[in-house]
Amino acid sequence: MELWFTEKHTENVKFSIQVDKQLYTGQSEFQRIDIFESKEFGRFLTLDGYMMLTEKDEFIYHEMMVHVPMAVHPYVKNVLVIGGGDGGTVRELVRYPEIAQIDLVEIDAEVVSACRAFLPQTACGLEDKRVQIYYDDGLRFVRKYVEEYDLILVDSTDPFGPGEGLFTKEFYGNCYKALKKDGIMVNQHESPFYPADATAMQRAHKRIVDSFPISKVYQAHIPTYPSGHWLFGFASKKYHPIDDHNTTAWKQRGLVTRYYNEQLHDGAFALPNYVEELLERVESV
Ligand code: SAM
Repeated sequence: MELWFTEKHTENVKFSIQVDKQLYTGQSEFQRIDIFESKEFGRFLTLDGYMMLTEKDEFIYHEMMVHVPMAVHPYVKNVLVIGGGDGGTVRELVRYPEIAQIDLVEIDAEVVSACRAFLPQTACGLEDKRVQIYYDDGLRFVRKYVEEYDLILVDSTDPFGPGEGLFTKEFYGNCYKALKKDGIMVNQHESPFYPADATAMQRAHKRIVDSFPISKVYQAHIPTYPSGHWLFGFASKKYHPIDDHNTTAWKQRGLVTRYYNEQLHDGAFALPNYVEELLERVESV
């Protein structure tokens, strides 16, 4: 007998992984949560049937979300992570001793408990004593703060369901307000490839460009996300992601990474022409 997980990437494209067994299934107040075991990708987490992470390729997403801004901002002390209940983003952050406080705002406590039980590879970072978890809507949480954080990482689901509010103009404006004068926000910026994803990406990009003086986009190859071509947004009040990239300081830390390196940091901001065109189209409106 064969068991397969299948996600529709478009009406005409499906992506499937053969499953050894289902480790967890649950319906929370917000979404359906499943964790599977597979030969090819190890364990993987899906929410409402959408791939969130696999053990095999999560390092790409989490390293690119964390190390890019950390190699630019010279003194990150207070960090806010919005979403990210699997713990992978926090796991990369806790490798920096200079970070004093990491607030994680996750809407769904059941994601955290399922990941703690079945995905220790990512959830391990949540046990660090600098991490404070708040079970709240990121949209509501961030409204309360003014010049509080050096870095905000938006590690959200896609722009529908509980994640919808994390792609609004109001949310980005409040992130701007919650950041210190030289703060940086990085967000998962969706994919440029399939038309529906590209439209969501352009909508988010336009709102970020309208909210921050510096707004750049970088890319990574994430095999289990739609088309495998994924974007991140780098929005900042002061620092430019390449001009202020401090390779010497980052190298001195001696962090071992599997995807991120200092050449790739700059190269990731060099985008294909069709992606540049999609971005320029909304930047000039
Ligand atoms: N890397 C993933 C991806 O792009 O597919 C995201 C992973 S992480 C599991 C996303 C988390 O965001 C989920 O656990 C979800 O519960 C949480 N989330 C969704 N909407 C939220 C909101 N409004 N406030 C806080 N957390 C939210």
